[in-house]
Amino acid sequence: MGEHGTLPVQDPSTGEVLAEVADASPADAIAALDAAVEAAPAWAAHPPRERGEILRRAFETILSRADDLALLMTLEMGKPLAESRSEIVYAAEFLRWFSEEAVRIDGRYASAPGGNGRLLTMRQPVGPCLLITPWNFPLAMGTRKVGPAIAAGCTMVVKPAQQTPLSMLAFAQILEECGLPGGVLNLITSSSAGATSAPLIADQRLRKLSFTGSTEVGRLLMSQASETLLRLSMELGGNAPFLVFGDADLDAAVQGAVLAKMRNGGEACTAANRFHVHESVAGEFTERLAQRIGGMKLGRGTEPGIELGPLIDGKQRDKVAELVQDAVDRGAKPLAGGNAVDGPGYFYEATVLGDIDAGSRLMTEEIFGPVAPVVTFSTEEEAIRAANASQYGLAAYLFTTDLKRALRVSEALQTGMIGLNQGIVSNPAAPFGGIKQSGFGREGGPEGINEYLATKYLAINMDQR
Ligand code: NAP
Repeated sequence: MGEHGTLPVQDPSTGEVLAEVADASPADAIAALDAAVEAAPAWAAHPPRERGEILRRAFETILSRADDLALLMTLEMGKPLAESRSEIVYAAEFLRWFSEEAVRIDGRYASAPGGNGRLLTMRQPVGPCLLITPWNFPLAMGTRKVGPAIAAGCTMVVKPAQQTPLSMLAFAQILEECGLPGGVLNLITSSSAGATSAPLIADQRLRKLSFTGSTEVGRLLMSQASETLLRLSMELGGNAPFLVFGDADLDAAVQGAVLAKMRNGGEACTAANRFHVHESVAGEFTERLAQRIGGMKLGRGTEPGIELGPLIDGKQRDKVAELVQDAVDRGAKPLAGGNAVDGPGYFYEATVLGDIDAGSRLMTEEIFGPVAPVVTFSTEEEAIRAANASQYGLAAYLFTTDLKRALRVSEALQTGMIGLNQGIVSNPAAPFGGIKQSGFGREGGPEGINEYLATKYLAINMDQR
């Protein structure tokens, strides 16, 4: 426990304190890095197969405890139990994926073009890492970093968001049970993220920072990391456009829209932030979306049949209310929802808004809540221009049955990921990540482990003389 005592964890459905966890001080953070540095050489030399098998056992253990872990996640984060269960499966899949990648870290042997030398490349663990995660996916944002770090042979300090430390604490315990040696993963929970992470980022022994969170904090960390020239992965905010063309299968588009908007209560970096719909189908699409979203059952995620939980805290609920009010002040019409719900808890109604003024803040700011603004377009060029009119570039969704259009528009969209005729892009076997102000680096897929490996090249003299 740090010198500052403990940190309360709240249930966002009730505002009640669920548990108290240790509140790490900067000295605790340094002690965590000390442990990671000390464990680094032995862990880097640990057989890849065994690193993979620890991950594989953790994958199986998480699945065998999915119900308990889902309850814990719902209590600290608020989402309905069924959604917590889906996140737990998604989170565990990263461990399975990287258990398979641990034994596929390879290098290259080549002749130098002049013929008088050989080039040998090897990929080695980058070294001790700091992994900082947000509250919206309390387990998956952790396994997506911890999985490849373990597979690559890196040791680490992990700092989950202060609102949701419990899922990560449970995960750390599982890794220990599954045979992860002491010092490889060091978890700190803290109420002062800046004060605990800054000394680590300034410490030359740290070699890598992987951050998932807001663009604002990402920028700050990047400037801090410029001193030590840390390797960085930045998974930042999003503002995903959801495009529906006149030739789209509307059943699929409405279903995809519900998923892209309402998964995780809209608190996802990949959440559809704005719906751009061709004028020929906008009326029907909006009406059907309002019907589906407006009928969603709001309540405490632990209760049966609940489809939408609370927002994470009062600040987030007030921000969503402010963005909706701004749109309404500029003439938007609520077609479903449009109101905050009285406490206890931080609930906001599932909302669909029509007649959006182009200057409304929710078109350019990340909403991070269950609000779907719908605007129309008339040409493909106009749709692409509107979709790309954002500082963010994480995900986009595209609904069309015309293959050439699908490819043409996909090539033109300025995002790292695109859902084509589907409302979800996340997949542990795929490279997750963004461009522009959504950051850089990729998590998952064959690319994911590269973030934790450094390439070394050996120049070999083959001169005969
Ligand atoms: P946040 O405020 O940026 O916090 C994220 C993490 O950074 C938390 O652990 C937080 O700790 C920590 N942090 C905050 N200030 C810090 C500082 N000065 N120095 C070091 N660490 C600091 O973001 P959030 O509100 O939790 O999460 C929502 C954001 O994450 C959204 O913008 C969303 O789009 C983004 N996100 C992106 C992805 C992606 O893969 N691209 C995935 C999920 C979420 P505390 O909890 O103690 O403040």
